[in-house]
Amino acid sequence: MTTSIYPFRKRFFILTSLLLMLLLMPGSWNIEPALAQEPETTTFVNVNIIPMDTERVLENQTVIVEGDRITAIGPVDEMTVPAGAQVIEGEGAYLMPGLADMHMHFGAFPFEAEERPLKLFIANGVTTVRDLSSQPLFFQWEKEIAAGSRVGPQIYKGRLISPSPDKLPKIIWRAGVTAVIGLILFLVVWLIFRKRIAQTGKRLVINGSLLAALLVVGYILTRTVVPSYQSYGPGAALIDSPWEARKMVYKAKAEGYDFVKPYDALSQAEFGALMKAAQETDMYVAGHIPEDLGLEGIIAHGQDEVVHLEELTNEFFGGGYEKGPYVSPMDWPLNDDPERIEAVVKKLKESNTTLCVTMITDEVVLRKITNPAEFLQDPIIETYLRRDQFAAIEEGTDRHMRAFKERFPNNFERWYALYEKILPTVRKAGVYITLGTDAGVEGIVHGFTVHDELRLLTETGGYTPYEAIAAGTKNAAGSMDGLAEWGTIAVGKRADLILVNKNPLEDVAHIQDKQGVMAAGRWYPEAELQSFLKESVVGP
Ligand SMILES: [Zn+2]
Repeated sequence: MTTSIYPFRKRFFILTSLLLMLLLMPGSWNIEPALAQEPETTTFVNVNIIPMDTERVLENQTVIVEGDRITAIGPVDEMTVPAGAQVIEGEGAYLMPGLADMHMHFGAFPFEAEERPLKLFIANGVTTVRDLSSQPLFFQWEKEIAAGSRVGPQIYKGRLISPSPDKLPKIIWRAGVTAVIGLILFLVVWLIFRKRIAQTGKRLVINGSLLAALLVVGYILTRTVVPSYQSYGPGAALIDSPWEARKMVYKAKAEGYDFVKPYDALSQAEFGALMKAAQETDMYVAGHIPEDLGLEGIIAHGQDEVVHLEELTNEFFGGGYEKGPYVSPMDWPLNDDPERIEAVVKKLKESNTTLCVTMITDEVVLRKITNPAEFLQDPIIETYLRRDQFAAIEEGTDRHMRAFKERFPNNFERWYALYEKILPTVRKAGVYITLGTDAGVEGIVHGFTVHDELRLLTETGGYTPYEAIAAGTKNAAGSMDGLAEWGTIAVGKRADLILVNKNPLEDVAHIQDKQGVMAAGRWYPEAELQSFLKESVVGP
């Protein structure tokens, strides 16, 4: 029996006080249960590491992962496996960083959120994604993934900022709210001061100017305090003025979004206000090139990243594209001389603008348009493409198929050929590129397309496998200021890893022949990844 140094009464007092403190502590009634499991320790024994910091292979290594972190790396014969660790025998397999898809959407237009991609990504070795039309729900997913109650990659969330498609209802709403606020304020002031105003003998003048002044106050309040009509679509902040563009950047920052994405139809003034607010709030800006600005315009404002190589199109076609009187694309003056391409690409390089390439987006559009039947027979498309998108391609009602039929009746190949010319120039110039797919958009399946993009970077762009993989690892992390956390294999970094059978630096296709994926320290052996794929099947 142990004796306490405190007399009983004192102990009783301490105990009851402690109990009372606990009861009074806010939130003590719903203390979340601690995670059932202690973070696991996993050891990869005898692997060849592709660290992706430089082009090299570290042979015969042991990697120790504790919780979600890499805690030790060393030669296999100098390392001891920690007691109780889960051991994965590498036997000479290659351990590389998990991949990132830096341009994707969980839901396609109109951006409803689809959960299915989460497991498709992990099954394909994609441990980080960046959604370019994020919505509040993803913050919840992120928490659940971190807690281990949901399988999925790390998510960077971008707020899409676009001009409101229906400005008229917004204007009517604003005018109405302004009038109501102004009239109420006027009524209050009039009730208090009506006698004194009457005494002045200038009732009409004073009341009139008072009403005008209070309507102005009403307008300012509607602009600042009162939420505007339909300022949010399901994955976008919809704005109708430079003022609102600015407001939405601040709001996105406060809500925890990682970056903002300016969209096509923004005016010069709206874009300028957005960029200024982004600089004030230290918000990263990755987006399209609004037509009103062009490449030089967005560079002048300091946009950090262009999210498709395709966005450069307007720099090469003179007129006819979406703006102005319709001109058959066959008659477009296309200037794709090597000098022109070099000049455009040089602007990206000299301004340090990051380019998220997304060649696969255009390859899918090309395939859908030139041979839809063949495209639909692709095993990945047949098995995993959302059925509504599959049916639309089958029926020819797909958005791209319709748009290009009208605008590019016989000319899409010429359009795609332009990108095939630009990409090698981008490589030669040393533009900072990242890997993206635009998955979610019609016909682009999540996860698998990351491997298509790696293929296109090497085959079309002439990138070496190391350079292509860097676009989806080291560069991707660097673009979001995340290199201290992920993107390469090093002690202290998050354990986002793929264990592959053959050296991926020889051929990017080797990444698809894998033994398993680790996401934030959680190991999914290939059998489990296959079960994720099985769950994700939507086709026959
Ligand atoms: Zn996109």
